[in-house]
Amino acid sequence: MDLTYKRTNIYAVADEQELKAIQDYNEGYKRFLDGGKTERETVAETIAMVEAAGYKAYTLGDKINKGDKLYYNNRGKALFILRAGTADVAKEGVRILVAHVDSPRLDLKQVPLYEKSDMAYLKTHYYGGIKKYQWLTIPLALHGVVALKDGSVKQIRIGEEEGDPVFYITDLLPHLSQELNTKTIGEGFNAENLNLLVGGVPVKGEDKDAVKKGVLALLNKNYGISEEDFLSAELEAVPAVKAKDVGFDRAYVASYGHDDRVCAYPEITATLETRTEQTVLTILADKEEIGSEGNTGMQCVLISDLLDAIAASYGVNAAVVRAHSKCISADVTAGYDPAYASAFEEMNAGFVNHGVAMNKFTGSRGKSGSNDASAEYVGYLRSVFAKEGVIWQTSELGRVDLGGGGTVAKFIAKNNIDTVDMGVPVLSMHAPYELVSKADVYSAHKAFSAFVK
Ligand code: MN
Ligand code: MN
Repeated sequence: MDLTYKRTNIYAVADEQELKAIQDYNEGYKRFLDGGKTERETVAETIAMVEAAGYKAYTLGDKINKGDKLYYNNRGKALFILRAGTADVAKEGVRILVAHVDSPRLDLKQVPLYEKSDMAYLKTHYYGGIKKYQWLTIPLALHGVVALKDGSVKQIRIGEEEGDPVFYITDLLPHLSQELNTKTIGEGFNAENLNLLVGGVPVKGEDKDAVKKGVLALLNKNYGISEEDFLSAELEAVPAVKAKDVGFDRAYVASYGHDDRVCAYPEITATLETRTEQTVLTILADKEEIGSEGNTGMQCVLISDLLDAIAASYGVNAAVVRAHSKCISADVTAGYDPAYASAFEEMNAGFVNHGVAMNKFTGSRGKSGSNDASAEYVGYLRSVFAKEGVIWQTSELGRVDLGGGGTVAKFIAKNNIDTVDMGVPVLSMHAPYELVSKADVYSAHKAFSAFVK
């Protein structure tokens, strides 16, 4: 009997059938990635998926009946998918899966358009934790909405279709970078320089801001908007690149926005495919990357309201339902990168190809800001995964005191719900083009399916 703990490389133990299942599953995942690059788009494409599976829109205040398949669309930016089970929620509670669908990006400012040296630019304010230099000299697309005074909302998505123009942030040529190269990365790359090049053709006969006016004329022609309409717009610059297989053996997928769609997609497939008596609440949250703030983030009371609605509909005590509920807070973790080995502690790092990774705790400087799941709850999940043959691993977000990070876990747990962090290890997390292992994506699907079963 082997008494030691070892991680398992999924690719090393998978048979032909399993290897094919991994590849097939990730074809769906890549379509999901390309179909939704912003929280709004991912919510919309998920609504289409759940409606096709018979789910109906829920209105707050409506009674929930056993067997109902419902979704609650929170302002088009966050989504709650509810499968009302036949099991006793006073005994079993609700199985909750949460992932977030906002990703780091460059948001346009409210007065973004200006002209300099006969070139037109849009100013941005970055969203989430980014390494600024990574956003220079790559093709960027603009996605989002412009809300007009008459109440109508214009949808904008430009840079994704074949033949669409893209937008671009310049960098200084190496020939003239001697001064720049002596600066730290923090000093050398200024957020106020993250401006998108958007135009260069002046309006004839105009002597001031002729290029800017040309851009405004095009925006007016194509979308019926004026400069003032940016005041009530949410426009996000995201990488204009599609998800691609990586490696001769196609072991990996590179894409924008794996964090955290790589957990959202397995949550959705687990919810739609698993037959269960349990009541399952699957959440796609917004605003995780900036602290889960606002009424579309997980600090909003809406989750509590929905648990109350379930309890009231079933005629049971809401506090009892909460106390018996369980949650997997599904968010990505740092994959061990041999190129940056000193950032990790190898015994406790998450390794790509070794399965979905559980972070018992997150946080920084002595677990500060962490949920830190109980040993008993982790023990319970070990038994669930063992029963269903899920290959998974434990993970810690890097070497102690190097940095750290938080997730939505603590905002679920504070409702008196057992919660643990679990997600796919990512390489180059928060980069415009991140990388995951296909085996780990499929492992997440299996783990989440076992959890809601
Ligand atoms: Mn995340
Ligand atoms: Mn993140």
